[in-house]
Amino acid sequence: MQILVIEDERTLAGFIEQSLRSEGHAVTVAHDGEHGEAAALGGEYALVLLDLSLPGKDGLEVLEAIRARRPALPVIVLTARAAVEQKVAGLDAGANDYVTKPFSLEELLARVRAQLRGAEQRESSALEVGDIHMDLRTRRVRCNGREVALTAREFEVLAYLMRHPDQVLSREQILNAVWGFDFEPGTKVLEVYIGYLRRKLRAPGGPDPIETVRNVGYRLLVGHG
Ligand code: CA
Repeated sequence: MQILVIEDERTLAGFIEQSLRSEGHAVTVAHDGEHGEAAALGGEYALVLLDLSLPGKDGLEVLEAIRARRPALPVIVLTARAAVEQKVAGLDAGANDYVTKPFSLEELLARVRAQLRGAEQRESSALEVGDIHMDLRTRRVRCNGREVALTAREFEVLAYLMRHPDQVLSREQILNAVWGFDFEPGTKVLEVYIGYLRRKLRAPGGPDPIETVRNVGYRLLVGHG
């Protein structure tokens, strides 16, 4: 992971850089607010560690600029300002976490791991296949740019298909994944739900996104045929 450290105390910045590298991360260090902000907005970082009292541009301003332009980029604020009001200001300005100096490197690394895990989960909370976009957290589905309202069961069937795009999935595989063992052998319930999904996902006059594979099951087409 690529991590940006914005910290003007060079000894501390060096320690942080070393310990992040020892965890396998690539590290860029900026020693003032202006360079830090430019790096954060211009680079592809997974995380920013940001000191609040910086020469050039104050850390809070940098944080506000990051929030305005890169709302999803996680930021951990590092600061000697232990005062409660400043902590609140930092969190209000959109810090994801806050570490008060002096801190142990172990503590900092634990916070870094927690933020990176969170970012990974946020990333894996969406599925996209062809023109279909699914947000697993809000459970919203968009197809060809329009919102598609699905029932809970329809959502689960589609999510399973979207996790295996372009693969032929047997009826048993899908039934097991979505209904567990809670289905009658020989049931037509899956056919019924596939029918519902086709009706909801298919654009007027457009191709069918779900292919029936005779005597086997179904396949979600990546390019919609
Ligand atoms: Ca400082």
